[in-house]
Amino acid sequence: MATPGALLRDLEALALPAACLGCGAYLPAASEGAGICAVCGSRMRRLGAPGCARCGQPLDPWERRPHAEAARTCGFCRTWPDSMVWAASAVWMVDGPARELVHALKYGGWRVAAGPMAAAMARAAAGRLAGVELLVPVPLGARRLRERGYNQAGVLARALGERVGARVAEGALVRVRETRTQTALGPAQRWTNVQGAFAAAGGIAGAKVAVVDDVLTTGATLAACAAALAAGGAGEAGAVTFARAAVPD
Ligand SMILES: [Zn+2]
Ligand SMILES: [Zn+2]
Repeated sequence: MATPGALLRDLEALALPAACLGCGAYLPAASEGAGICAVCGSRMRRLGAPGCARCGQPLDPWERRPHAEAARTCGFCRTWPDSMVWAASAVWMVDGPARELVHALKYGGWRVAAGPMAAAMARAAAGRLAGVELLVPVPLGARRLRERGYNQAGVLARALGERVGARVAEGALVRVRETRTQTALGPAQRWTNVQGAFAAAGGIAGAKVAVVDDVLTTGATLAACAAALAAGGAGEAGAVTFARAAVPD
């Protein structure tokens, strides 16, 4: 007769995929950061340091020169509103385990993928997240929430919150209008598409917050969220994502 504790452990193991979400290899139950194998974990390309002091993007050679201004920000984040004080991402969104994890969580219904993603985020953004009180997931549109059944940014925020000891304020941001998916849009269209799409719903006054999402491309969605949080009285807003994708032409 199994003890209730052992039964619970067995049930938890059953809830985890037996195969690595990156390569399909067999995973021993209850392995650290379950959901992905050690090989795939090491195959993900980390953003690495030193990058831009504000957004972590690798700097062009000319940006590394010790000009006082240029040393602070890079070309990539220069157009972001001041309300998005910082951004951090763990890995590059390239073919392989990183893309597999993002797709497993977003389209495959594998919420367990949030575990290894949050682990990578906690490592990459440890310094930034140390002072953060509230994690705020990018809200999903009502239609997409119905289709998917859950907000992948919310699942990711909860997994990250458990790791770094920050509260998750799922309802702190609301979408005030539906937007087209950013995937098919060019960089300039991405900014206009999300302009004014979010509003703060309260509960954030004076708090240091981090907006959470799976992928940062231009930063447009996260910046719109940060701007809404700042307008709603947040003390400081940053953004943390699992992956960073190349900006499309
Ligand atoms: Zn693997
Ligand atoms: Zn930058």
